[in-house]
Amino acid sequence: MEEQGQRRRRVVLVPSPHQGHINPMLQLGTILHSKGFSITVVHTQFNSPNPSNHPEFEFQSIPDGLMDVNISARNLVDSILLLNENCREPFRNWLVQMIKEQQPGDEIVCIIYDEVMYFAEASASQLNVQSIILRTSGAVTVVARLVLFQLKEEGYNPLKESYVQLINNAYSARTSSAVISNTIYCLEESVLSQLQQYFKVPNFPIGPLHKFAPSSNGSLLKEDTSCISWLNNQSPKSVIYVSLGSVASMDKKELEEMAWGLVNSKQPFLWVIRPRTNNAPEGIELLPKVLAEDVQENGYIVKWAPQKEVLSHVAVGGFWSHCGWNSTLESICEGVPMICMPFFEDQKVNARYLSHVWGVGLELEHELERGAVEKAVRKLTVDKEGEFLRQRAAQLKEEVELSTRKGGFSYNSLNELLDLINKF
Ligand code: UDP
Repeated sequence: MEEQGQRRRRVVLVPSPHQGHINPMLQLGTILHSKGFSITVVHTQFNSPNPSNHPEFEFQSIPDGLMDVNISARNLVDSILLLNENCREPFRNWLVQMIKEQQPGDEIVCIIYDEVMYFAEASASQLNVQSIILRTSGAVTVVARLVLFQLKEEGYNPLKESYVQLINNAYSARTSSAVISNTIYCLEESVLSQLQQYFKVPNFPIGPLHKFAPSSNGSLLKEDTSCISWLNNQSPKSVIYVSLGSVASMDKKELEEMAWGLVNSKQPFLWVIRPRTNNAPEGIELLPKVLAEDVQENGYIVKWAPQKEVLSHVAVGGFWSHCGWNSTLESICEGVPMICMPFFEDQKVNARYLSHVWGVGLELEHELERGAVEKAVRKLTVDKEGEFLRQRAAQLKEEVELSTRKGGFSYNSLNELLDLINKF
C-alpha cells in the first residue's frame, strides 16, 4: 500500500516492450503517480523494465512466449502479433484476480495501454474496466498510415501483410474512452484534428512527456555516464552526438563511412554503438585499425548514453539520429539541430518533418558516404551555411517550452486528461 497507509486509486499501465515505447509509458506513470494514483506496470518478460528505477510503482510480469524468438527490426511486427496472442489470457487472468482482491479506495480506475498492445483493451472491455490508448509516436503517423491503407485499397501494395493485420487487430473494435498522444500541439497542429476525427474519442496531446517527468528512467541498458565528464571538457556547442536508438543497426561498410566522415569533420563526437546481440564483433572492432585509432582520438564511444542529459549539455551542438520519435522530441526540446538518417517505420516521416516542416534537420538521403557525412556534420555545428538550422532549433525549443508551462497547450491537456480519469 502507498505512503502512510493511504489508499490511492490504481492505474494499470501496459507498455509495448521496446525502449522507445517503455520510456514514455513510464514517464506517464510518473506523472499519474505524482497526481495521486497508484501505478501497476504490467509488462512482458522480454525487455522487462528495471523495477529498481521506479520503486514507487508495482511491476507485474506476464508470460509472452517470446523466449525463443530472435527479435530484430525485421520481425518486429510479427513479434508484436505473437505477444498479443500469448499475453491475452495471462493478462485477463491477472486482471480478474486483481479485481477480486481490490479494496474500496484502491480500485483499478483504468488501464492505459500502448496502441499496439490491444490484448489489454480486449480484457478491459470484457471486464468493464475503462481503458485509454497511449500513442508513443507522432500524430502524423496516423495520417501517413491512412494514406498507405488508401493506396492499398487502390491496388498498390505499400504495406506488408503482417502490418495490415496488426493495425486491423488493433483498431477493428476499439472501445477505449480516450487517446493520449506524446506530441505537442505547436509541432503537429495541422494533423491533430485529423487524429481526432479518426479516433472519435477525446485525444489528449500532452507531450513532451519527459519534460513533465524528468526523473523517470526506463533505460533497458546501463547508461554510461562517463561521457558527461568527457563532454565537460569540450567547447560549447562543438560536439555531434551520434545515436541510432535501440533497434536500428548498421553494416560494416556504413559504419566505416560514418567513422571516416566524423573523423574528417574535425569536430569532436560522442558516438553510441550498442552491443550486438549475437556475439558478433562490436562496432569499433569492425573498423580498420588506423581508423579505429582516429575515432578514439577524436571522439568518445559508449554502448548506451544518458541521452536526455547528453542533449541538454552545453557542449552538444548537433544530434545525428535515426529520428525515432523520442529522440526527435528530446532533441527539439533542447534546441539541438539534427542530422536525420531514418531507417524504417515512422522514422522516415519524422525525418521529413524535421527537415521540411520544422526546419531543424538535415536529411542524409543518399547512400551513406564519408564526404557527405563530413559536410553535414560541419554544416550542423560550425559552418555559416548551417546558421539557419541552429537559429530555428533555438526558436523551436522556446515554442515547445511554452506548451508545458502553466496555461500552455500540453499543460491544459494534461489537466483535462486528469479530470477525465478522476470521473471514471
Ligand atoms: N536512448 C538512451 N540512450 C542511448 C540511446 C537512446 O537513453 O544511448 C533513449 C532515448 O533517449 C530515447 C529512446 O532511448 O528515449 C529511444 O527511443 P526512440 O523513439 O528515439 O527510438 P527507438 O529506440 O524506438 O528506435
